Amino acid sequence: MMHYISTRSQEMVTSAEAIARGIAGDGGLYVPESFPVLSADAVAKLIPMSYKERAKYLLSLFLTDYSVAEIDRCVEGAYTGNFDHDEPAPLAEVEKNMCLLELWHGPTCAFKDMALQLLPRLLTVAVDKVEKGKQIVILVATSGDTGKAALEGFADVPGTRIVVFYPCDGVSAMQKLQMITQDGANVAVAGIKGNFDDAQTGVKAIFADERMRALLAQHNMAFSSANSINFGRLVPQVVYYVSAWCDLIKTGKLQRMDRFNVVVPTGNFGNILAAYYAKQMGVPVDKFVCASNRNNVLTDFLKSGIYDRNRAFYATSSPSMDILISSNLERLLFHVSGGDGAMVSHWMKQLSTSGKYAVSDEVRQRIQSEFFGGFCDEESTRRTIGELFEKDHYLCDPHTAVAVDVYRQYAKQTGDRKLALIASTASAYKFAPAVLPAVYVG
Ligand SMILES: *Cc1c(COP(=O)(O)O)cnc(C)c1O
Repeated sequence: MMHYISTRSQEMVTSAEAIARGIAGDGGLYVPESFPVLSADAVAKLIPMSYKERAKYLLSLFLTDYSVAEIDRCVEGAYTGNFDHDEPAPLAEVEKNMCLLELWHGPTCAFKDMALQLLPRLLTVAVDKVEKGKQIVILVATSGDTGKAALEGFADVPGTRIVVFYPCDGVSAMQKLQMITQDGANVAVAGIKGNFDDAQTGVKAIFADERMRALLAQHNMAFSSANSINFGRLVPQVVYYVSAWCDLIKTGKLQRMDRFNVVVPTGNFGNILAAYYAKQMGVPVDKFVCASNRNNVLTDFLKSGIYDRNRAFYATSSPSMDILISSNLERLLFHVSGGDGAMVSHWMKQLSTSGKYAVSDEVRQRIQSEFFGGFCDEESTRRTIGELFEKDHYLCDPHTAVAVDVYRQYAKQTGDRKLALIASTASAYKFAPAVLPAVYVG
């Protein structure tokens, strides 16, 4: 039986409890106590499998209190008919040794669908196990893509209600339209004055409010989260990194023992953390390249070990990465500090009181041995979209362009030409007003 512990204390729960609650009672995030490691045999079995079969196998390693039949039902429901490919996460080798993992073939055209088609199903099963009969009220803070993907995933799911908070002036026109036109009897959407960080801080404060929790309990309701603070968002993301590795081996681009790099356009640090988790399971990732836009708080942190959110906030053409408080970094800090919940609590307290904390040299070096941080400004984002289109006949969205540009910076600086798997996180058509001028040379 796998257990999950909070990053801030040793509060220990099962996977169903972690998913049903979303966030730990002490404000921490649930992480697996240890990671299941894939044997050579398991990998050999995974390689010829379909995406859904791989997902079922990998989920069963993490969600040990779910039955085989439950996982089967969740995975079939999530990945059958909702994606425009049979294989929901195809690879595109755009240049030699540079493969884009296209994660946006789902209903809302962003990678969030990969997890948010599955999460409501996992959550309903979890609630049945641990909070039977309760209505679950999902609160979501979004920088644009999570909101719609969560609404789409939870619309009319029995036993759930969902409220999404988005920055009124911080999302693209299409993202806003997608959210405010959502169908469903159990959905609500609210635009807030402020940015994503304000939305996320507000939602976390509601979760932590004893009075609110008591009020919900009186109505036989309980809160949960569909943001990547919920572990149930991360497991489906671990699946696509393991699956992509299997595909790279299957298509002869990698040998079984070859190391490769993973590049991720990063906001809340959930997607890149899922890749880190895949490595803990034995996927031979060498470096994680963490790509930011002008909101480069993570780039600075990865260089200096100082996390400082006291800085200007920019609205960019990659709005889903316009974030200054990357929640899931807390999980990485917990892992690299040897599970030191007291230390993590201390840093997070400093972050909430002064907006800043510094990790020890040892923790910084440990992170730097695996993570490279870089950022890409608006002009380079535009240029990268144009170049990929012209040279490689590949149309990418601004978030993916940020990743491609930072990967090029990395390769140039280090000379590291190992195969790069780049997470392509949104369809170019979702961000047409930014993409069109970048490819149109009239
Ligand atoms: C959410 C999102 C990101 C950032 O992912 P995180 O897991 O928050 O780091 C990047 N690109 C797109 C298109 C997104 O929707």
